[in-house]
Amino acid sequence: MTFAGGNGNGKGSGSGTGGMIGAFEDYAPIWPVVPGTRKITVTINGRQVQAEEGQTILQACRVLGLEIPTLCYEPKLSPYGACRICVVEVEGQDSTPISCGTQITEGMVITTHSERVIENRRLVLELIFSDHDAYCLPPCQFKCPTRVDIPGYLKANSEGNWEEATRILKRSLPFPAILGRVCPAPCETHCRREEVDTAIAIRDSHRYCADRVLEVDAPAPLPWPKESDTGRRVAIVGSGPAGMTVAYYLQLRGHHCDVFEADPEQGGMLRYGIPEYRLPKGWMDRELNHVWELGATFKPNMRLGRDFHLADLVEQGYDAIFIGTGCYKPNEMGIPGEFADGTVNALENLYNSTRGVPVPALRGARVVIIGGGFTAIDCTRTSLRQGAKAVTIVYRRDLKDMPSQDEAHEAIEEGATVIFQAAPVRIVTDAKGKVTGVEFQKMHLGAADEKGRRRPEPMPGTEFIVECDTVLGAIGQGPELSWIDSEPDEIRAGLEVSRQGRLVADANTFRTGIPKIFAAGDVNLGATTVVEAIGDGRRASYAIDYWLRGHDLDDPQVRRVVSEPQPSFLTIVPFTDDVKEPKAVMGKLGAEERRSNFEEFEHGYTHDQAMGEAARCLQCTCEAIGHCDLREAAIEYETTLNMTIDERSIQDNPYVGINHGYGRDETHSFILRDYSRCIDCGRCAQVCKDIVGAGCYDFIGKGFDSLVTTADYVSLNETPCVSCGRCAETCPVGALMPRPRILETYQLDVSRCIFCGICADACPYDALRCGPEFEFSEYQRDLPMLDILEMSDRERPTR
Ligand code: FAD
Repeated sequence: MTFAGGNGNGKGSGSGTGGMIGAFEDYAPIWPVVPGTRKITVTINGRQVQAEEGQTILQACRVLGLEIPTLCYEPKLSPYGACRICVVEVEGQDSTPISCGTQITEGMVITTHSERVIENRRLVLELIFSDHDAYCLPPCQFKCPTRVDIPGYLKANSEGNWEEATRILKRSLPFPAILGRVCPAPCETHCRREEVDTAIAIRDSHRYCADRVLEVDAPAPLPWPKESDTGRRVAIVGSGPAGMTVAYYLQLRGHHCDVFEADPEQGGMLRYGIPEYRLPKGWMDRELNHVWELGATFKPNMRLGRDFHLADLVEQGYDAIFIGTGCYKPNEMGIPGEFADGTVNALENLYNSTRGVPVPALRGARVVIIGGGFTAIDCTRTSLRQGAKAVTIVYRRDLKDMPSQDEAHEAIEEGATVIFQAAPVRIVTDAKGKVTGVEFQKMHLGAADEKGRRRPEPMPGTEFIVECDTVLGAIGQGPELSWIDSEPDEIRAGLEVSRQGRLVADANTFRTGIPKIFAAGDVNLGATTVVEAIGDGRRASYAIDYWLRGHDLDDPQVRRVVSEPQPSFLTIVPFTDDVKEPKAVMGKLGAEERRSNFEEFEHGYTHDQAMGEAARCLQCTCEAIGHCDLREAAIEYETTLNMTIDERSIQDNPYVGINHGYGRDETHSFILRDYSRCIDCGRCAQVCKDIVGAGCYDFIGKGFDSLVTTADYVSLNETPCVSCGRCAETCPVGALMPRPRILETYQLDVSRCIFCGICADACPYDALRCGPEFEFSEYQRDLPMLDILEMSDRERPTR
């Protein structure tokens, strides 16, 4: 396989003849193509079909409804052959010709999809991606399991529009005030602002706008209007974040939801796990209540397996059932003395604390907590607030492996001691079997596991004892699925439990082995985070909605929509702006004060802090999101060049080009140009030259440095551009975009108008019309339209 076209990168060259795979001359585009009327017979994908002489393979396939991907083909223009992803196989040819530039001939045998063709298309896409310095979704948004529009809501926040910001958030996550308190914020670790100074406080920012909305005595903003009742009924088991999210979005879509909950109150681990000082329950209820405000019904004290069975729900005629019962079965440590007098179940301890049930007397006790997750830290800080004399937390890995490192620091500030890289060997007891301490062994961190975390390995001979009165084991939990045994055979047979003890559901459609039963959240993922439960809950609600609307969830197209496929991304060139403005920090109670009560310890932003913090966002979102052909091809061919800028080199991958990191040109009033996204397809240059006649663009530079831009890279203002917007319209990837417009009034001097109609021709938005009577459909709004019509009558009488 060779590079061709002389430029070596497969992109267009100065002569407009790009190319990548195979000998270029074999399939140089035909120019011009004039289809004739004589019918010829060809075989495409094993089927004999009739096509017209003079057609290219691409044209013939399009007429026959066969999809061949292309980024540079513009039906109104002669084929150009610049992108080269439209390759096909033709019997008798060694290379894979481009279909837009190859004319069909009698008896031709063509294959549009084969392993070889797919591989070649992938290669071309990889090459394009190697110099496509752009994200589809900004990295923060991509890393959030809910894919919430972070730049969008931050923009609204920066304008002080809290309601709009909250509405944007609720499109993807219905509980932004709750997540604003408890989310570990994976988005922030990928914020590009970090390359300038410090990452945006994304979580604290959505806490602020969502809180402002909860404060006002008005209905919560809806992401979109609630749809009318479909008559469908959905049973949801579990009112944790997963179940409540499903109920929220299904209610919005017009399906009625009944939420069955084992506990007396809503919220799952949000209520019975996460302590009050982090998530005040009154505030939490205000936000969760939006689900009931939308019409869902809460059915408390209803435990699946005890008070009802899935078979009952089927019998009662529910159209779909969602299981979101979380993880409530604590993992056992498997060490001697685990159940001795003085050992306490961490989850039960928190459950009782949050319900106000008396907990084992911790006042004055020396407590050892084993584990490093949310539960361990919450138990630590709760024990301190309950008056423990000393609390030691022992974790087998490092601080950086903890899901909530900030909280670990706060626990230390409040007086806890942390021992890292040690695991329990046995619980030490006295003659009466009462706990007196825990024996630990030091750990050495070995090779990384599949999640990239280094595996702890025991170091024999390093044992030590920590003396204590109470031990809380908080080493994780798994789903409690004993209810499955109480179901009839036909249901039991359709529910699969994984090796890890989780309820199995399809990763895209969240469907279990029974078509109308779905599952998501911790019960399916294992103990994770609120934001993951909400993200999967939202996707599950889409799948359920599709199913309820009669779509076949096994249809690949439907699965694709439901699963929202995402390409992975290049790391783009570092942002080098030197603006320095560190993030705003929320106020909080001092360590001493917070140790003595369960009040919420973080105060939230002030109005000015929230606006200022949001204004720091670099808004690194792509304007073409939702209509980018390259992204669609990347999803279809499952390819991006997924490596960081430092790793990118021609030695590593010969198809990798030089990453140029071109900038943006924002000098033109209507057209925004972002060269970093340009894939050198040349469509803009062709349209501008052959249709508009302005010829503002051309291929500049050679080889890897070729780029479609203006001569000498000047601003579009210095070209014959007529601002028609056709270049932006044809651009397949958002390298050329119509700029967001700020409404202005233009002064029109009607006395000078010669009614040439050029403005009407050029207007990209059809704001001006040439009708039988030439007229301005809109001009200075305060002037009566009649004047213009009168003038046109006078100057240019109509038929
Ligand atoms: P859950 O929240 O567990 O909800 C499941 C619901 O199902 C519950 O209401 C339960 O009562 C109900 N249920 C269970 N069995 C039945 C049954 N048989 N019949 C009827 N109803 C049933 N994540 C974070 O992101 N940030 C944090 O700060 C954080 N802190 C945490 C602290 C603790 C102590 C714990 C334990 C977890 C924490 N997590 C945190 C994890 C987070 O709470 C969970 O990942 C999340 O709540 C999972 O949501 P879910 O809806 O899948 O399940």
